[in-house]
Amino acid sequence: MYCHLSQIIRVTQKIFLFSLLVTCSSLAQPNEALGHKKFAVILLDYAHDSKELSIDIINKGLFNSEYSVAQFISAASYGKTSISGEIFGWIKPEVPLYGKGWTACWPLDQNRFNILLKHYPKVDLHAYDGFIYYVHRKAGSKCSAGVANTYGLQSRPTYTPFGKQPLGLIDTRISYFSNKFYFPYQAYSNITNSTVAHELTHTLGISNHSNAYVCGSRTLSANPEDCKILSRSDLFSIMGLRSQASHPNIVNKERLGWLDDDNIISVSKSGTYKIYANNDPKDNIKGIKIKLKSIIPISDKLLMSHVYLEYRNMEGFDKRDSFFRRIKQLNKHDFIITNTDGALVYAVDCVTYNYCIPYLLNMNPQSITPAYPPGELANAYLFKDRNFKVVNNNFSITVKDVSSKVSLDLVVDFID
Ligand SMILES: [Zn+2]
Repeated sequence: MYCHLSQIIRVTQKIFLFSLLVTCSSLAQPNEALGHKKFAVILLDYAHDSKELSIDIINKGLFNSEYSVAQFISAASYGKTSISGEIFGWIKPEVPLYGKGWTACWPLDQNRFNILLKHYPKVDLHAYDGFIYYVHRKAGSKCSAGVANTYGLQSRPTYTPFGKQPLGLIDTRISYFSNKFYFPYQAYSNITNSTVAHELTHTLGISNHSNAYVCGSRTLSANPEDCKILSRSDLFSIMGLRSQASHPNIVNKERLGWLDDDNIISVSKSGTYKIYANNDPKDNIKGIKIKLKSIIPISDKLLMSHVYLEYRNMEGFDKRDSFFRRIKQLNKHDFIITNTDGALVYAVDCVTYNYCIPYLLNMNPQSITPAYPPGELANAYLFKDRNFKVVNNNFSITVKDVSSKVSLDLVVDFID
C-alpha cells in the first residue's frame, strides 16, 4: 500500500500552497535517509511561452550555490545526507496536463516515467534514488507550489512504456514543483527554495508536518478542549512555517537518523543538562527528551507521550533578516522578536504511530496578538530562569544558564 497523489489535500495559505499532513504507509527503513541520494530532475514545459527558468538557475538552486537545497540538506543532516542530481530537459511533453486544455497540476502517474523514457530512452530508472519533476505551466493556477508524492522510499508503478514490457514497481522518492527559484535566496527561509527543501524532506522520510499546540493563556492543559492543534505551524522548522528558523526540529532529525540517542538524551533523573544548538555541526548533545509518566491527550486521537527541548542559535540556515522576525499584530503594531535565547519545547506524540510527531508549545502564551494566529509562536521560547511544569506529571524544567549562540543548561527536577 502506498500514498497516492489524490490522497493529498491541498490548502491555500497566505504565502505558499502546501500539501497538508498526510499519513501514509511507507517502506521507510531506519536510517534510509542517510548517505548520498542521486535525483533525476525532469524539467517539463507545458506552457510553451519561452519563460521557463534556465537550467543553470535550477542547477544552482537545487545543488550548486551557497543557499541551495543541497547545502541545506547537508547542514541539516550534519553531513549525513547529501543530494546531487542529473537534469533532463527542458522536455515539451506530447501529452498535455490532464483534461481539456489544462486542468491538472502534474503529469499523470502513468505518464511521468514514460515522458522521461521517450525523450531519454537510455535512462535507467533504477540508477536514481528519487525523481524531481519541475513543471513550467501557465501562471495563476490553484495548484500547490510543490508536493511530495512519496514519504521516504515507496513503491511506484512504472507502467508500460510505449507497448514494451512493464518495468514493474520501483522503490523511489518522487516530488513535484512548479514555483520559481529565487536568487540569491529567499530571505524568508534562508534557502534558495524552501518549498523544495520541505518536499524533499518529506521524500527523505518525514510523512508528518511540524505542528503547534496552543492552549489559550496556558502553556499546556491536560484537557484538549482547552487547546487546539495548529497544523504545520512550527515557525522554527522547514516542516512547519519556517519563518523564524529552517532546520527541522530535533524530533524530525531523530526520525531521519540525523540525530541519535547520544545527541538527544533521555532524561529520567533530576540534574542539569547542557544542550547545544540544533545546527551545531559537532556531534554533541542537541536536546533532551523526557517520557511522560502520565500521557496527555491532545485531541481525541493524538497523545503527548514525551516532551523534547532544543535550542536554536539562529545562525546559518536558521538566520533571518530582522524584517522576517517581525510579527504583524491585530493592533497593526509589529512585535519585534529580539530575544531568541531560550529553549523550544515540544509536546511529542510517539505512541499513535510508529514514529514521533512534534507539536511546538508556547511558553509565553498570548504575549503576541498576531494578525495571523501561528505568529504567536514566534515568541514560544522558555527563557532563562523560567520554569515549565508538565501538567499531571512529576517533573519540571528550568532554563538555568544560556551561553548565547552556543548552548543552554536545563535543570530537570523530578519531584518523586
Ligand atoms: Zn508538507
